[in-house]
Amino acid sequence: MVSAGVLGKAGKAAPRTIRLSPTPSQLIAMPIKVLPDHLINQIAAGEVVERPASVAKELIENSLDAQARTIQVDAQEGGIRLLRVRDDGVGIPRDELNLALSRHATSKIDRLEDLEQICSLGFRGEALPSIAAVAGLDIVSRTAADEYAWKVSSSPGQPVGELRPDPHPQGTSISVHELFRSVPARRRFLRAERTEFGHLETTVRRLALARPDVGFALTHNGREVWKVPPAAGRADQERRLATLCGDEFVENALFFCRDLEQVGLSGWLARPAFSRAQADLQYAFINGRFVRDRVVVSALKSAYSDVLHGSRQPAYLVNLRIDPAEVDVNVHPTKHEVRFRDGRRAFDFLRSTAREALGAERPHQGMHVPRPRAGGPAAHEFRPTAQLPLGEPRAPGYGGLLGKESAVAGVAEGQSMSGPAADAGGPPLGFAMGQIQGIFIIAQNAEGLVLVDMHAAHERVVLERMKLHLQGERPQSQPLLVPIDIEVSLTAADAAEAQSEALLRLGLELRRTSPERLQLRAAPALLQNWDLAALVRDLLDDLGASEEADAGRLEHALDSVLGNLACRAAVRAGRQLNLTEMNELLRQIEQTPRSGQCNHGRPTWVQLPLDAMDQLFLRGR
Ligand code: ADP
Ligand code: MG
Repeated sequence: MVSAGVLGKAGKAAPRTIRLSPTPSQLIAMPIKVLPDHLINQIAAGEVVERPASVAKELIENSLDAQARTIQVDAQEGGIRLLRVRDDGVGIPRDELNLALSRHATSKIDRLEDLEQICSLGFRGEALPSIAAVAGLDIVSRTAADEYAWKVSSSPGQPVGELRPDPHPQGTSISVHELFRSVPARRRFLRAERTEFGHLETTVRRLALARPDVGFALTHNGREVWKVPPAAGRADQERRLATLCGDEFVENALFFCRDLEQVGLSGWLARPAFSRAQADLQYAFINGRFVRDRVVVSALKSAYSDVLHGSRQPAYLVNLRIDPAEVDVNVHPTKHEVRFRDGRRAFDFLRSTAREALGAERPHQGMHVPRPRAGGPAAHEFRPTAQLPLGEPRAPGYGGLLGKESAVAGVAEGQSMSGPAADAGGPPLGFAMGQIQGIFIIAQNAEGLVLVDMHAAHERVVLERMKLHLQGERPQSQPLLVPIDIEVSLTAADAAEAQSEALLRLGLELRRTSPERLQLRAAPALLQNWDLAALVRDLLDDLGASEEADAGRLEHALDSVLGNLACRAAVRAGRQLNLTEMNELLRQIEQTPRSGQCNHGRPTWVQLPLDAMDQLFLRGR
């Protein structure tokens, strides 16, 4: 017999069953036998039930699978003493109540093929028996067909009690008491009440974010923590988002939606200026299931890569809709990880959609809006203005500003993502009036005053031009008169060899001449003024060290190298520009995608509207 009790009184039990540190020979001495159900469930509970938060996840997922419209979650003492989830779903029929507590009993799948098309959150039939193995459990449930509800209670290791009638309305309430009381070794692993409640709240929040159509309420020790009603439209959803993720996230996030036949992605992407030090505001849902998936995370990181400093984390909430047959959720018992049938395609779709959404920001939305300092007059607030009407893309002008590189780089007509035309109010960023301290350009537009960080804005302009040039149909690659020998590390040489075709598409022709030596034979015209050996080394270093998913790796590495080049090519602070040059820069910014931020994620310009200036001077009061 093996039970916690016997092991606990190790010294007094019969020698054959004491195995505090079993030796192989002692183990062999044990006869093979089928484990009792209760022990099987306790072992399974080890995988599914880690802490109150995991119990909440299983119970709420069951409520969602039962089509609940509202879900009430009540916790006492971090959910350790009591966790109750109450729903208004379809309920459990009386004669199935006992079955729900049996292992591998589920109403959600019945054929192997179902596993390939999972639309419910649960399907393993493990949660309730696992929870019942390590905590007290009451289930009260009533279906539409029942005259009243039925209640069943169980305690670990005890036979399930009798069914009793109960006045509960349609739906199900499941209460979990004294988690792990019968398993002291696991109970000891639980943290302080506050910590456990923190995990619990995070879990409930994720589920509420996954299902905006369902109302959720959460209480702790009798006090309401938050409550969100079911959302009908986007405005409702954003109110819920503000409750669950904070007002600031909503204020700084862009809604986007791309709906194709097979696949769709929608959600909110925070502007780069609202980046964070931690990855604590990143929510990804696949078909309504919260996931922490490497493909998804790296695709989004990559989408932000050239508007965000490497050490900063983007904030987002995205919903991926995909054919359930294209993802395997049965990878892990908690189902937080998934496996895409075609990870590369998923990566590319996620990355390009998110990137486009970030890049599609028009100048007047792209700017960062500094919050007023606490206590400062409201008039100091810079506010975004209404989006200006957009016309046809215009042919860009190139001037002397860019110097040599501009001769080959340029935004082709019609390729710019935002193409504001001069309308009655003049161009969106207006006309330059002068320079301040050699750092800022001031301009006047229809809205009021525009302040531009010259270097940051130009850096973005140069970067986008380089990218267009290199990622166009065929970059103008030119053979080098004298091939350049480059000494590199073994990893870098391997990377060059493995990616030689992709590098060639970028116009870089590299040949490996020895294990640690490469020869560069051709390079894009645009890059020929630069230290090509250093550029290739940087690129390969990034390629070799990158932990991103394979797809997009090269592009990611290239972005970072180009980012460095752009920074060096951009006009330096302190340089005096004449008005023509300033205006030219303004026009270039208007035509450049993602021009609201430099490639380190800092804002490039801000608008001070006239009414804000009026307020500054208390006019009209
Ligand atoms: P699974 O969710 O994997 O099917 P569970 O052990 O979580 O397994 O639940 C077992 C079964 O109990 C479910 O398949 C479902 O039929 C029923 N059930 C559990 N919770 C609820 C609920 N809140 N409302 C309706 N039915 C439920
Ligand atoms: Mg379940």
